[in-house]
Amino acid sequence: MLVNLFVFVIGTIFGSFLNVCIHRLAKEESIVFPASHCPKCKTPIKVIDNIPLISFLLLRGKCRTCREKISLRYPIVELLAGLTFLCFYLKTDSLLTFFFWALLGCLLIIGFFTDLEEQIIPDEIVVIGILAGFIFNITKGQTINSLLGAASGFAIFFLIAEIAKFIVKKDAIGFGDLKLAAMLGAFLGTSGFWNTFLLAYLLGAVISIGLIIFKFKKMGDYIPFGPFLIIGAALTLYFGPFLILQYFNPLIQ
Ligand SMILES: [Zn+2]
Repeated sequence: MLVNLFVFVIGTIFGSFLNVCIHRLAKEESIVFPASHCPKCKTPIKVIDNIPLISFLLLRGKCRTCREKISLRYPIVELLAGLTFLCFYLKTDSLLTFFFWALLGCLLIIGFFTDLEEQIIPDEIVVIGILAGFIFNITKGQTINSLLGAASGFAIFFLIAEIAKFIVKKDAIGFGDLKLAAMLGAFLGTSGFWNTFLLAYLLGAVISIGLIIFKFKKMGDYIPFGPFLIIGAALTLYFGPFLILQYFNPLIQ
C-alpha cells in the first residue's frame, strides 16, 4: 500500500516536470533554463509553491505574487502522471517494463497537451520515443515487430496525407501525426499500432460529431488528431490489442 502511494507521488513529481516540458516545448524554449517562473509576473516559483497537486490547492490556483490564475492543466497533468505511474506499476511484472511504460506515458502526456494547445508534437518527444520503443522491443526479442510497427505508422499517414492532398488539394494532415504514429508503432509493434489507429479513428469520429452537435465546433473546424492517437495508444498499452488484430500478426505470438 505504501509502495503504491510512493509510486503515485513519484508520478506527480514527474508530472510537475512534464508541465514545464509542455509549456516550453510548445513554445520551443529550453526545458532546463531558466528556473520555473510565473508566466505573467516572471517571479521564480519557490520550492514550497511547487509541490505537485498540494501547492495548487493551497494557492487556490493563483500565483502567490500577482494572483494570476494558474492553468488547471497543471494539477490535471500532475494527477494524470501520478495515476499513470500507479496503473502501470500495478499492471507490469518487471521493473524494466515499468520503466519503459512510464517513459512512454510521460511522452504521451506531453504530446497530448502540446498538440491540443499548440498543434505541435515536439521532435524531442518523437526521437526519444522511437529510440526507447526500439530498445524496449529489442529486450523483448521483438525487434522486427517494432520496425514493422514504426513503418506501418509512417506508411499509413503518408498514404492518407498523399490521398488527401490529391482530393482536397491542400495539406489535410500534419507531419506531427505521421511522426507520432511512427513512434507509437515502434513502441507497440504492428498489431499494437493498428489497434491504436482503429481506436483513434473511432474515438475521433464519436468525439468530433459530439463537439459539432453540441456546437463547440463547426463543420470544417480543425480538430487535432494526435490526442486521439495518444488515448488509443494508452488504452492499447494497458489492455493489449483486440484479439482479432493479434491474428493478423503472427510475429507477436
Ligand atoms: Zn505571477
